[in-house]
Amino acid sequence: MICCSLNSGSNGNCIYLEAEGVKLLFDAGISGKRTAERLATCGRDVRDVQAVIISHDHVDHIRCAGILNRKFGLPVYMTRQTYLAGRRYAPGPIYDLRHFRPGEALTFASVTVQTVRTPHDGAEPVAFVISDGYRRVGILTDLGHVFRGLGELLRKLDAVFLESNYDPQMLASGPYSQYLKRRIAGEGGHLSNVESAELVAGVGNGRLQWVALSHLSQVNNTPELARRTHLEIAGGGCPIHVAGRHGPSELLRVE
Ligand SMILES: [Zn+2]
Ligand SMILES: [Zn+2]
Repeated sequence: MICCSLNSGSNGNCIYLEAEGVKLLFDAGISGKRTAERLATCGRDVRDVQAVIISHDHVDHIRCAGILNRKFGLPVYMTRQTYLAGRRYAPGPIYDLRHFRPGEALTFASVTVQTVRTPHDGAEPVAFVISDGYRRVGILTDLGHVFRGLGELLRKLDAVFLESNYDPQMLASGPYSQYLKRRIAGEGGHLSNVESAELVAGVGNGRLQWVALSHLSQVNNTPELARRTHLEIAGGGCPIHVAGRHGPSELLRVE
């Protein structure tokens, strides 16, 4: 399996994954042009993508779902509630829209995308576990809080894009309103560096080939701080990458 984060954060999310000849995009938070350009830098053609799968209705995940469909003819998958709630952020028609239920598994040839309901504050949010029958990769962002079963899910993964949104001190002392601070740190918000690192520390089985810290806040985090927190709490058991807010990651392989 090969993965690449094309962009990660509240300014737009999109992850590319290919396995066994199946090519998928997860979320559509950056423009069609940018998506195509960044895939091209990885030597991939956006028109070869078989499906765009949307995690939830927030603008940084759904914004360009329609564009990817209309410009490149890609089928778009999302739950019905995500579609209904997200229409205001993703204007224009989607000519090939396919619904799934949260918790349902989607199949593309020999690749399975297991959707996992999360307690994030979207209309009907899901995370993803992708399997080619040999290896399993998680795309786990916008998680709400460390919900029951999340640690167990992580233990079965070979690699993971894992939310590491904010540093608790930076959030507490930062410029956000009290309302926003409570939302981010609350039950339906995002995972902190500490929560994320503790999850990885809890796995402790050496199965993870890499962790890509994802959905970092621009205001309440830095890549260095996220990485340092992970090294301090989880140790350096596997490589730690940071999925950037302004460009694609390297190609991340899962052997
Ligand atoms: Zn988000
Ligand atoms: Zn969200």
